[in-house]
Amino acid sequence: MTVLSTREKLAILSDAAKYDASCASSGAGGRDSLKSRGIGSTEGMGICHSYAPDGRCISLLKILLTNFCIYDCSYCINRSSSNVRRARFTVDEVVRLTMDFYKRNYIEGLFLSSGVIRSPDETMTEMVEVARRLRLDEKFGGYIHLKTIPEASAELVEKAGLYADRLSINVELPTDEGVKRLAPEKRPETIRVSMAKLRSKIEEKAEPTLRTKTRERFAPGGQSTQMIVGADATSDAGILKTSARLYGSYQLRRVYYSAFSPIPDASSALPLRKPPLMREHRLYQADWLMRFYGFEQGEILDGTPDGMLDLEIDPKLAWALRNRASFPLDVNRADKERLLRIPGLGTRAVERILETRRFKRLRLEDVGRLCQSITKVRPFIVADGWSPGAATDAARLREAIAPKPRQLELFR
Ligand code: SF4
Repeated sequence: MTVLSTREKLAILSDAAKYDASCASSGAGGRDSLKSRGIGSTEGMGICHSYAPDGRCISLLKILLTNFCIYDCSYCINRSSSNVRRARFTVDEVVRLTMDFYKRNYIEGLFLSSGVIRSPDETMTEMVEVARRLRLDEKFGGYIHLKTIPEASAELVEKAGLYADRLSINVELPTDEGVKRLAPEKRPETIRVSMAKLRSKIEEKAEPTLRTKTRERFAPGGQSTQMIVGADATSDAGILKTSARLYGSYQLRRVYYSAFSPIPDASSALPLRKPPLMREHRLYQADWLMRFYGFEQGEILDGTPDGMLDLEIDPKLAWALRNRASFPLDVNRADKERLLRIPGLGTRAVERILETRRFKRLRLEDVGRLCQSITKVRPFIVADGWSPGAATDAARLREAIAPKPRQLELFR
């Protein structure tokens, strides 16, 4: 077997990790200065941008411990039957790489995932050891996100929580049928049990102990998961239903949606085309509505013929257009819950409306200063000196406020 240098392993194992969206790196642009030998590349050597639990944008070294895997999940480039170049880091190599990058200020943290080598416990042991050594031996104070293997023992997951900021367990696909069909070695029940155990551990450790009266540090960034979108026929309504259940049952901090991307030598069980990236974006917006805007999962797509999110307009605007009887809302009187339903008003704008109206009545211009575009808001509100009249019910309202369609690029 060819002996690979650390640099070669890094190239293979950072490339293999790019399919995982659950470090929230999807906002990073496609800059690539590697070819020009310039500086500032965000790709190529495993450095990605991510949002820490406190909202800061941080750079992470995003790698797999190994892309060898004994499982054969159809949608995964690293599955056992895939014909890709394989590599495996030692614990020592990951620790050294992380520290070297960290000391040079290239990164602020590590996102570590892995294929399953020999057994889930053996793989998890190595991942935990990376985190343990970083924290205890190297006194690493950066962010650590470990992708937990659901079949690994509870003791190992507990150890992982002592050193990692965030743990995640991938639910993989929106439905149990999907998991059974496309990832036959994985058991949806095991994934759920693992998430439930992690939830209770996080809650248990968040309570101050009788002896020390302080909270024990245990995965302070909570747990998250990732769902692949478009690898099976589940509708957006089905996906959001699963997300709502996951948030409710396991207190997840985030569900990440990763648009399925066709892989080389793909199984015939998979679609040939990837779903539009906009679908992923709309799912994130709908997810946001459930978490921060008080929407129930069922109402986001209520009344749609196919249970799919509209790709042309955002889900809140789509909901408002289907529920025009709820509008217009008076921005000087409506309660917070109602204000959050107005298209074009974000949570911050709503807070500012509530603050401002304590000492003055709002006019349309005042609302305009608080939001990005008043065009979207105007037909849905009443303000001092402003009423939309018949505009709220106008047959062509959607055309008037929806973003204009853009010609797709034919050659990219
Ligand atoms: S277990 Fe993970 S790495 Fe292995 S084939 Fe499945 S998704 Fe890929």
